[in-house]
This record gives sequence, structure tokens and C-alpha cells, in this order.
Amino acid sequence: MRVYLDHNAGVPMRREVFEAMRALLLGEPAANASSPHGPGQRARYRIEQAREEIAALIGCEPAEIVFTSGGTEADNLAVLGFMEGRAGGEPAPHVVSTTVEHPAVEECLKSLEERGVRVSRVRVGASGAVDAGEVEASFLPETVLASVMLANNETGAIQPVAEIARRARARGIAVHSDAVQAAGRIPFDVRSLGVDVLSISAHKMGGPQGIGALYLRRGIELAPRLLGGPQERRRRAGTEPAALIAGFGEAARLAREEMGRWEGVTRPLRDRFEGEMTARFPEARFHAAPLRLPNTSSIAFPGHSAEAIVMALDLEGIAVSTGSACSSGAALPSRVLSAMGLPEWEVRSTIRVSFGPSNAEHDVERLLAALGEIVARQSHLTTAAGS
Ligand code: PLP
Repeated sequence: MRVYLDHNAGVPMRREVFEAMRALLLGEPAANASSPHGPGQRARYRIEQAREEIAALIGCEPAEIVFTSGGTEADNLAVLGFMEGRAGGEPAPHVVSTTVEHPAVEECLKSLEERGVRVSRVRVGASGAVDAGEVEASFLPETVLASVMLANNETGAIQPVAEIARRARARGIAVHSDAVQAAGRIPFDVRSLGVDVLSISAHKMGGPQGIGALYLRRGIELAPRLLGGPQERRRRAGTEPAALIAGFGEAARLAREEMGRWEGVTRPLRDRFEGEMTARFPEARFHAAPLRLPNTSSIAFPGHSAEAIVMALDLEGIAVSTGSACSSGAALPSRVLSAMGLPEWEVRSTIRVSFGPSNAEHDVERLLAALGEIVARQSHLTTAAGS
């Protein structure tokens, strides 16, 4: 039996989600929700039902949800669409963000810079969290947007988004938050957070890949990134993928009903893993923010290669990941861990273990046993090579 401990990369699809999608894929496969006939209108009904479930999950009105092809497109629409959609905006606008955003936001920031927008990236502390006061200190009279993620994909660090939004609002600055890792895992609602725009993705909560959504507070204008038909209130052209959206809706419904399982199931497993690791490998170092997703563990094994550990665990049937992103086949050191001030050797020795509600005690035991053997074997090899 394989042990899957990479839920921050993707949460396995639930059977209920698959069934909701199958009904649309096989039942009325050609139905276009814009068609006036019965099958089209039934597809429309499923889409609007899903929109209600997703709105209920994050505490907004259904009309404030715009479907996208995933978290990446939601982030692009939020950041680039907001900046392009400002009516008669500042000639030299300024955007505030952080040094640990997902590439889906970071690459948009770079693209804005190429077009003359000034961007300040607030540094995180050693634990991976930003300080709301430091974010506020970087606001300028020309600042129009602050984009700060809610939970980090590599470390699970939860950022003080509500506090940042409160300070931004007082100055008329719009706030976007990438909540792809938080939605469906920790309870929050967009009104209490006080954000204007927020990105989510279905496959991080047990829905299908290729579908996500943007919460767009009523009254906020965005320039669409895709031009064409009038779908999604002219925010995102293209025939809505009814089956993917129905699957997303079902995943959101389950996530809302079973939200407590992330806290109730994954936190004890994660804490047991970390407790036992500390006892068995006193040299192991955890990158743990005071506020963190309950399922995520980022752990460095000094003197070891994270890539080698991840591959060896895979051979044992255990899926975890490194903290680093892969680019054209070459593993680059994690930008997030580097931004936390960790030396390169520590970055390169860090693995990410992300538990999910379907994990159990025996998964932790398998992981601990396998890690013990792998680290001992590698230490032996390193010592032998050095002697
Ligand atoms: N933002 C964060 C924080 C993520 O972790 C991810 C996915 O890993 C994304 C955005 C992109 O989402 P998607 O894979 O749906 O495009």
C-alpha cells in the first residue's frame, strides 16, 4: 500500500466528487450551459449549485465567484486583471507583496515590473511569516494593491491577512490573497478577512485538477485575461466546464462539512511525526511558524540531500516532496526557504510532509521507520565516502 503524504501538491479526489462529475460527463456530455434547451439548462443549474457551495465555503455571495482554470489563472486574473482594470489609475502605481508568494503570483509581479509598476516584496521572518506592521510600513501614497497569501504551500505558514487587510483598507488599498492552500482546510470567510479578491483551487481540496475560482468582492473591477463570450459576467470568457465545476462544488460541500478533519486528524498525526522526529533525530530542524496549517511539516536533515531522501522514500512507496520547485529538469533551491534566511545547505536538505484527512497512525509509523533507515544509510555512505 502506498502512503501519500503530499497533500499540499494535491488532495486525492473523493468518490462523491467523481460521481458528481460522471453524472455530467456521461449523462449529458454535450450540454453547453449557455444553450437554452433542457440539457443546457440542467448544466447551468449544476454550475449555479456549485457556485453556491463554493460561496458558502468562503462566506461570500454566489455572484462574487468567477470560475477559472485553477489557482494559477485565479492569481493571474487577480493581480494582472486588477492592475489592468483600474480606471484612470496612478501613472506609476505601486504594489506590495511578500518574498514567499507562489510563482503564480510572483511571476505576475515580475511582469508588472517589466511594465513599469513598482513592487515591494516584504521579507518574512525566520519562521516564514510576515509582520503586518512591516507590510503597512511599505505602503506608499501610490500603493493600489497588496497581495499576500493566506497559507504557504511549502511551510504552511499562515500570514496575518486580516490584519494586513484592515491596515490596507484604511488607506484605500485593495487586497488580494492567494488562499489556494487554506481553502477547505482552515476555516475563514472573506468578509472577516476583509479581502477584496481571493484565489482558490479545487484540487487542493479533493476536487478535480483544472478548475479554480476567484472571489471578487462586489464593486471591484478587473480587466478579463481571456476575451470572447460573455460567460462569468464577462470576467472570464469560454464555455464553462460543467463537469469540473460540479466536481469542485461537491468538493467544497464536503470540505465545509468535514473541515474539522484537517484539525482533528492531520494535526495529531503531524505533531506525532514531529515529536518522534525530534526524539530520534535531534539534529533535524523544523521550519515552523507560530501559526501554521495543521497538516504541513517542513523539516531539514542537515548533511543530507532532500532529493535523495524523497527518491528513497518513493522506492519505499511513500510520497513526500522537497521544498523546492523543479525547473527544466534541474531542482532549484526553494525560493521560499531561501527567503526565510536559511543557508543553501539547509534548503537543499529540506523535505515537505503534508498530511491529509485520509491518513492514519500507521502512515506515520511507516514514514518514521523508512526515514530512520534512509537517513542512517545515507549517513553511513557520507561517512564512508569521506573516510
Ligand atoms: N497558489 C498556491 C499557494 C499553490 O500552492 C498553488 C498550487 O500548488 C497554486 C497557487 C496554483 O494552483 P493550481 O495548481 O490550481 O494552478
